[in-house]
Amino acid sequence: MSIHGKNFIGNELSAKGDKSSKIYDINSNEALEGEFFHATKQEVDEALEKANKAFALYKQTSQQQRAEFLETITEEIMNLGDELVVRTMAESNLPRPRIEGERGRTIGQIKMFANLLKEGSWVEATIDESMPNREPLPRNDLRKMLRPLGVVSVFEASNFPLAFACAGGDTASALAAGCPVIVKAHSSHSGTSELIASAIISAVKKCNMPDGTFSMVHGSGRSVGQQIVLDEAVKAVGFTGSTAGGMKLFELANQRKTPIPVFAEMGSINPCLFLPSSLNDTKKLANTYAGSITLGVGQFCTNPGLILALKDTKLENFKIDLAEAIKDMSPATMLSKGIQEAYETNKEEAIKQHGITVIAQAFEDNLPSEGKATVASVEAKTFISNPKLQEEVFGPYSLLVECKDVNELNQVIDSLDGQLTATVMGEDSEMSEYKEQIFALENKCGRILFNGVPTGVEVCQSMQHGGPFPASTDSRFTSVGTGAIKRFVRPVCYQDCPSSLLPEELRNENSLDILRIVNDEHTRRIL
Ligand code: NAP
Repeated sequence: MSIHGKNFIGNELSAKGDKSSKIYDINSNEALEGEFFHATKQEVDEALEKANKAFALYKQTSQQQRAEFLETITEEIMNLGDELVVRTMAESNLPRPRIEGERGRTIGQIKMFANLLKEGSWVEATIDESMPNREPLPRNDLRKMLRPLGVVSVFEASNFPLAFACAGGDTASALAAGCPVIVKAHSSHSGTSELIASAIISAVKKCNMPDGTFSMVHGSGRSVGQQIVLDEAVKAVGFTGSTAGGMKLFELANQRKTPIPVFAEMGSINPCLFLPSSLNDTKKLANTYAGSITLGVGQFCTNPGLILALKDTKLENFKIDLAEAIKDMSPATMLSKGIQEAYETNKEEAIKQHGITVIAQAFEDNLPSEGKATVASVEAKTFISNPKLQEEVFGPYSLLVECKDVNELNQVIDSLDGQLTATVMGEDSEMSEYKEQIFALENKCGRILFNGVPTGVEVCQSMQHGGPFPASTDSRFTSVGTGAIKRFVRPVCYQDCPSSLLPEELRNENSLDILRIVNDEHTRRIL
């Protein structure tokens, strides 16, 4: 399949604009196949209009129909074969095993939503039957369930060109909820986005979903992206990326005539608390953390960017062992020139701050496209007084904060911004001694983990990927796992509604055999 570079305005391909961009190989600087035509204002309007029209029909599809649609998307993605893997590797500079793994994860999460729909109980169907003879007043028949919000705007992330992108978790959860989706393709992997969009459109056609159920447009976030978010047809936004980008969209969405939710997952430095007992085997700990800091060239939102520990001789040994482990880590190619340059600039800015000492650095010189691992340390009181040190350095960088006592450790935890994750390392017997600190960390994060590394986010029902601001704009929701669907629905209550107008999930016969709450009782029974 050759890359055509056109926009997907619903089921139509379109390239009416005179602006275009190309993608260049990070090392050779040669252009990859394809010229990507930025959507014009009119093309974006057409996509929005189609999506809005599609919503009226798409929201009426049954959960079973949407499950089949999602499963067809996975088949169409797999039908792209190795071409998808090769293109994604070329655009992201990520190795084959990572891309194949990420494709598996993408397929897995779409199927997870399909299974959720097949089971059906996630809609939280709740029924309070009428009580005409109740005294002093009768009760009406009241039935409530979660219904789709409307058109969802999705912004692709650069660091997961498949799993947090065109057919990633935002798109899959929105389509599962019954919401049409308009994706703003990421300029660093537009060819990958095109291939995936073509697979989704094939599935739209095969499953007879309405034209406009899915669109994907190229162009800059500042023009195309902002036009979409500001349009009244759009009812929610899914975003993963920089704090600046997420916050801009959040502000715009709140300035609209009708403000809408923006589910932006932004930066996080993922504090890791090393309790004294975790430093009994400093070599093992240093190797584990050197691996996590440099995994995927540090380009994960769950990268361990901050280590908190109490000063003692064991910590000095850890620093020596970490320096040794990091030294042997070869620098590796980053996602894009922009990300690599941002890493160098932000790292330089971070390590030139007052009181910062570089304690570990990869030994080998790096190519201009590569990120070189670096770990620095700082005294707790300096960390607390300088908010700059809490800014995410996206790449293989971490900062060790040395606390002179527990009181200082408490102050450090207290000073932390909201995070996606927090990690506690130490023996079980010691955990209860540090309960206060562990609970304080829990207040700061969406996922707290013990004796592990924060990198690696399981896609499952119990996952929470989203933390207090500024890690994300709404800590009540997750962007990974089945819970992600809840971002794109709202409860609707039907009072004395004729059965023929009720959604299937709320009818007496419970033909879907879902678990409902009927008159305060959890049940699958027929009424
Ligand atoms: P990004 O710059 O935030 O871009 C993500 C998407 O949002 C792109 O499609 C971008 O469009 C759009 N966008 C950005 N700013 C916008 C604005 N002001 N108005 C409208 N749309 C806007 O993120 P990125 O390109 O993936 O990476 C850049 C930096 O983000 C990284 O260096 C890193 O610091 C951070 N990042 C963080 C995470 C995380 O998980 N926390 C993940 C990836 C990246 P354009 O491409 O047209 O600008």
